[in-house]
Amino acid sequence: MAARKPLLRIPYTDVFAAPRVVPRNATTPAGAVAALAAFMTAPLPPGLPPSTVVLTGAGLSVASGLADYRGDNGTYRINKTYRPIYFHEFMASHEARKRYWARSFMGWTTMHKALPNTSHYALRDLGRLGHVQSVITQNVDSFHHAAHPDVPSTIELHGYLRATVCMTCGNETDRDTFQSDLARLNPAWAAFLAEATAAGAFEIKIDPTTGAPVPRSPKTLTAIRGIRSNPDGDVDLAHAPYTTFRYPPCQHCLTHPPTTEDGTKHMVEVDQDGAWQLPRNFSATDSGTKVKCPGILKPAVVMFGESISPAVKHAAEEAVDGAGRLLVLATSLATYSAWRLAKRAKDRGMPIAIVNMGGVRGEEVFFAEIADQQPGNEGVRVELPTNTVLPPLVEELRRLGPDGDHERSSNLDAGPVEPALFRDMLS
Ligand SMILES: [Zn+2]
Repeated sequence: MAARKPLLRIPYTDVFAAPRVVPRNATTPAGAVAALAAFMTAPLPPGLPPSTVVLTGAGLSVASGLADYRGDNGTYRINKTYRPIYFHEFMASHEARKRYWARSFMGWTTMHKALPNTSHYALRDLGRLGHVQSVITQNVDSFHHAAHPDVPSTIELHGYLRATVCMTCGNETDRDTFQSDLARLNPAWAAFLAEATAAGAFEIKIDPTTGAPVPRSPKTLTAIRGIRSNPDGDVDLAHAPYTTFRYPPCQHCLTHPPTTEDGTKHMVEVDQDGAWQLPRNFSATDSGTKVKCPGILKPAVVMFGESISPAVKHAAEEAVDGAGRLLVLATSLATYSAWRLAKRAKDRGMPIAIVNMGGVRGEEVFFAEIADQQPGNEGVRVELPTNTVLPPLVEELRRLGPDGDHERSSNLDAGPVEPALFRDMLS
């Protein structure tokens, strides 16, 4: 029987049960910070490496102005018409790619302008203090990459939007360069984007007190023909003529046509302006799109229905195995790829702390044997925003200093995970 590859699926849409806060006094910010500080500094069960691996999700980027997949009650986003593209659709259909890139072209402005927030910088500081060596994220916004490019190292489980990747040769192109190419090939769309931007459709306002994004005025949105941002960084455009949208091919495959084993060269076909075109002899029923339709660029993210590359999967498992405790931040672990990492940590006997608004998939199992009274050494479950607890946690760990930190020297000796390991993840 052939083994089936695990594919990225649309996450659970159930509402998970409300969490049991552990320890009991971790309901207040002060109680939560004390519990997390105990968690981060307590001696570990024998045999576990003395460091913490962090697993993050969409909730961490909400304060940067990016939409979360979940609504207030942990339900799927209110935008019921939002349906992400599947990998097989993207690869099989020129029309689907036009639609995807048109929406992505409009959405990139929001994504590009958004910046890491307090939580990302708190993780940088936890790395500098020697507490955290690696962060595994499900987010594709590159905020970890921007806030802490070196330490802690970042494993981007679901890829990243900052680059496109050629499905034939594996070359990556910077997304900003790609955006300029899209603007050149689609002047009418570029003008519309400029108009929408000037009207403030993509403004992100952050409330200085809460650090949370201020919702855009519905008036502005209606004025811009009902633009809505989705978590993948694209937007909905009612009745947009997607079919007129053009996108460029991989420049490497254009100048170096890929050759099949029988010596046949497969040329990338382009229109007079250099936009990708379906090869004239290509039939929609042809298999082997990769060879016969060369030079297709895809965002360097793992799409729904696509499998995570073995290298990334392996790197994430190594990060869990190289740590003694797991800190889960701002995710309900609804995607299987993230949940199985938490399960792996649990199976290894690692203490687990979760900071998330709303319930988390399978969390009752993670905390089943953890008493309400323990100070946080064995496990912590907090239902507060990460921006509320992480900065004071950094301060507390700084205050405790090396004496309160049993593992600082060994962590620094171990050094950061070799960044080269992650370079080729998506090629
Ligand atoms: Zn290529």
